[in-house]
Amino acid sequence: MENFKPKQMVSIDLKTIFGVVRSNKLSLVEQFVAKKGVNILNELDSEGFTPMHWAVYDGSVETVRYLLNNNAIHDSSSNKANQSPLHWACAKGRLEMVSLLVEKGINVNQKDSKGYTPLITASQFGNAAIITYLISLGADLDAEDNNGDNALHWAVYKAHPDVTRLLILFGVNPKTIDKFGQTILHLACLSGNLNIVQQLIEQDFIDSQICDRNGKKAIDLARNRGYSSLVDYLERHEKMRRKKSFESKLKMLLFGPVGNSKCVFLTIQALYIFYEYPIYLFRILPDTWSDHMYLNLFFILNSILMWFFYYSVHLCEPGFLRQNTTEYHSFLKQLLAQSSRLTPAEWTKNLARLCHTCKAIKPYRASHCRACNRCILAYDHHCPYIQNCVGYKNRPQFFFFVLSSTTLQLLSLYFFYILFSKSMDRYIDYPGVIMIFLFAIMAVILLFQATFSVASNYTANETVKKNKYDYFKRADGSIKNIFDKGLCYNIKYYFHLIEPSYLETEEFSRANGHVV
Ligand SMILES: [Zn+2]
Ligand SMILES: [Zn+2]
Repeated sequence: MENFKPKQMVSIDLKTIFGVVRSNKLSLVEQFVAKKGVNILNELDSEGFTPMHWAVYDGSVETVRYLLNNNAIHDSSSNKANQSPLHWACAKGRLEMVSLLVEKGINVNQKDSKGYTPLITASQFGNAAIITYLISLGADLDAEDNNGDNALHWAVYKAHPDVTRLLILFGVNPKTIDKFGQTILHLACLSGNLNIVQQLIEQDFIDSQICDRNGKKAIDLARNRGYSSLVDYLERHEKMRRKKSFESKLKMLLFGPVGNSKCVFLTIQALYIFYEYPIYLFRILPDTWSDHMYLNLFFILNSILMWFFYYSVHLCEPGFLRQNTTEYHSFLKQLLAQSSRLTPAEWTKNLARLCHTCKAIKPYRASHCRACNRCILAYDHHCPYIQNCVGYKNRPQFFFFVLSSTTLQLLSLYFFYILFSKSMDRYIDYPGVIMIFLFAIMAVILLFQATFSVASNYTANETVKKNKYDYFKRADGSIKNIFDKGLCYNIKYYFHLIEPSYLETEEFSRANGHVV
């Protein structure tokens, strides 16, 4: 990859117009023009660049305004490189000049002879403020240069982590490949920037196993260039990836593809209908009805309730967050406008509030479910048994499903206890007892978890990841659940007998859509 760079063949020589416009003194320019005539403003240097190019490069704003008011050439037609003064302003990071030139009508997407747009040029030089400004004016994010590299490729290659983050945030596809078959991970390895490599790998933006046209993986390029810390990091990542890949293959085998499989959902129903109920009807009921009629009636009633809650929690929308919200887009603009003043910690804190998939600001307790591919209010967990998420809206039904299911299994075991205490000579029932016993263990664990959630006011998600959420962290570093207001309140809250905390509502994210 070659880089754009305005050449400095013309030094500040006050005997030429090119030197005078760089002098930062408008009075000198005016005197020079008075002496030589206004046409001097359209003179070309040895490479076809105009006084406007040089004024934008390191002259004053007043000089640029003066040149524009005097209709000096301000496009790219005069030079072979086809660079407009806007390209130069983007390279030098001069936002005021960019603004003046755009107001004068220079096309923000015009390419130079190498295919660089002003946005690509600003990315090469890591000028985040200009990038933000150009994007707000509708600059083409996906424009490619003659080698198929876009602004993101250049930001990565020139090792600008902030610009990389900005461009991905604004929607540049991180998976694009250039004409050399290289991904942005290849380019990050060529630049040797560990920060960017970590950013790309940890956010799962790119497959590290893709080979370029020469059959090289990103790690091969880092190795060739002697970037040992990069190689170490990528090797560690590769080991983790292999381990995860094995685990996910095993899960696929057991449960099918994430979110799309009805395997567990249907298996559970089939086991009930074709195994557990026949056992009850043909092996338990005939031998227990006369002595334990009420217990059997309770079993049947509980069973009806369990199926009711099962389908209720399966079909009920768990509390999806609205997608593609206006608050999200205005938050992003604010974030980008303030990007230079934010510390990395503030960046992380603000970014953690957003879901880029749903394009929404998440209120407290909401989280994105990868299986449903939606953000869920008061996200608890994604449950393969009910093939749905458990969240704010369907958690009461979930609790009653788990309770009735546990009761059903324990009652079945109790019936077997009664039958076996009369006679152990029931070998045909042994497999059924084992299956119901395993079901009972699972149900009791689920009931324990759900009861803990009700009593403690922690969602299952928060129980596992409470260290990750800032709203649980106190100043001294300890963890405190700000939603826990005592057992009585927690029970009412869980079962929707009182309003949820304002912090976890969509109204909260709408009212707090500003950078903190
Ligand atoms: Zn989401
Ligand atoms: Zn889900």
